[in-house]
Amino acid sequence: MTNTSRRSAAVRVLIIGAGFAGLGLAIRLKQAGIDDFLILEKADDVGGCWRENRYPGAACDVPSHLYSFSFEPKADWSRKFAPQAEILDYARHCADKYQLRERIRFGREVSDAVFDESAGQWRITCANGEQWRAQSLVCALGQLSRPAIPRLEGIERFRGKAFHSAQWDAGAPLDGQRVAVIGTGASAIQFVPQIAPKVAELLLFQRSAPYVIPKPDRPYADWERRLKARLPWLQRLDRGLKYIQHEARALAFTVFPPLMKAMRLNFHLHMRRSIGDAQLRARLQPDYPMGCKRILISNDYYPALARSNVRLVDSGIREVTEDAIVTRDGQRHPVDTIIYGTGFAATEFLAPMSVRGLGGRELNQAWRDGAEAYKGISVSGFPNLFILYGPNTNLGHNSIIYMLESQFPYVLACLRLIHDEHLKYLDVKPQVQQRFNQRLQHDLSHTIWERGCDSWYKTAAGRNTNNWPGFTFRYRQQTRQPEFADYDCIR
Ligand SMILES: Cc1cc2nc3c(=O)[nH]c(=O)nc-3n(C[C@H](O)[C@H](O)[C@H](O)COP(=O)(O)OP(=O)(O)OC[C@H]3O[C@@H](n4cnc5c(N)ncnc54)[C@H](O)[C@@H]3O)c2cc1C
Repeated sequence: MTNTSRRSAAVRVLIIGAGFAGLGLAIRLKQAGIDDFLILEKADDVGGCWRENRYPGAACDVPSHLYSFSFEPKADWSRKFAPQAEILDYARHCADKYQLRERIRFGREVSDAVFDESAGQWRITCANGEQWRAQSLVCALGQLSRPAIPRLEGIERFRGKAFHSAQWDAGAPLDGQRVAVIGTGASAIQFVPQIAPKVAELLLFQRSAPYVIPKPDRPYADWERRLKARLPWLQRLDRGLKYIQHEARALAFTVFPPLMKAMRLNFHLHMRRSIGDAQLRARLQPDYPMGCKRILISNDYYPALARSNVRLVDSGIREVTEDAIVTRDGQRHPVDTIIYGTGFAATEFLAPMSVRGLGGRELNQAWRDGAEAYKGISVSGFPNLFILYGPNTNLGHNSIIYMLESQFPYVLACLRLIHDEHLKYLDVKPQVQQRFNQRLQHDLSHTIWERGCDSWYKTAAGRNTNNWPGFTFRYRQQTRQPEFADYDCIR
């Protein structure tokens, strides 16, 4: 294909993003005999967040037998919670085995997508100027792919190295350095124990203490891996049991928050076992109900904080200077390197990409009060657009891969209808989307996430745009098959 012909190329389905969402849907498309699709990926490899998050200690916090595609089981995971490199290898394996790379255009960052109503087509433009046309557009951008850097006074003045955990600078000389870590979320609790023994001093700037419970991790023995390879039903059984075990936690998150008491006890015992200093323990006590923010799992985070070269700073950051961080109490903390463990712009979903639907309506504008979609997938006024891991499909208790696998057949059925019925477009009815979201927000109001804390699940105005308020099997039931009466089907 020449450059010119590629510029005007039209495909049936265009997927943006080659993380687990984009790859998984592509596999399902191939298996369904749909070959006329392409994936545009801004980076130069597959794997999404597992390609980006290479910080020391990066690993899954859902067991790997559950955090992998049910249709592509892997018998030989090295341990219960696989490290980042192994998960990335698995994503690469999926891309290779299903010959997806020939369908991926790497180095293509989509900057905007406009729906051409008369043609019933999306017109997609990449940052390099390339243009594509597609009958249907699937956004598989993830919720956690844009690092969030805190807006700190004077941050641009800092002369030392500074980087986000998702953009880890492997060349930064941490040995013997004074390192500031800002943030105590899911990534920080993984890399702090890894770098603490190397650095001269580690200053951990905590705004809000997390609940950390033990991680039931261990390596798998050779015989276990061989057995699972030989007996696929055993692996399925193991996956099923792990699913049920994790799903049970939804009871505490979404149905009956008092059940959280048992996990709270686990947290207290864990901290007491790891940290002897009662004053430090007091400063590590979260000031919000357990589960309101993500519960973290780690066996080495608290022991790392008990080290003599690690100092917890919880007096709030006032400003950053050329070579130090100054806290609100006026203390100056000289540092050589700053690492941001400050998470992601999770509530911004498809931004900064511009998406224009019917009548030129801009999606980020439509979502100015918080993102919402029908079943997390369709947005009224944006026809033939499907979002994977979209609004309110994140979880606090189970594997996102399960949610993605619920979405694949739903999207596939919509794509089939558009194609087979020669529809110009399929657009979810506004009242259907509204009713769905009213119900969803009502269900969310009973969950632990609404018990008085800010979290990355919520917008600045306090709307939970990210989490699914219940059992994942309920989501699967609801996405088993599209109800086409919910959509305007335009010929
Ligand atoms: C460090 C970390 C640990 C996690 N651990 C777990 C876990 O243990 N269990 C769990 O269930 N979930 C976990 N998650 C959540 C994780 O995001 C999902 O499980 C899942 O990997 C999301 O896959 P995705 O394909 O939707 O998104 P991503 O993996 O984020 O992939 C999105 C892709 O889209 C590409 N992209 C983005 N914008 C554009 C654009 N404009 N143009 C072209 N390409 C673009 C990106 O480069 C990326 O490759 C974790 C997330 C992170 C960051």
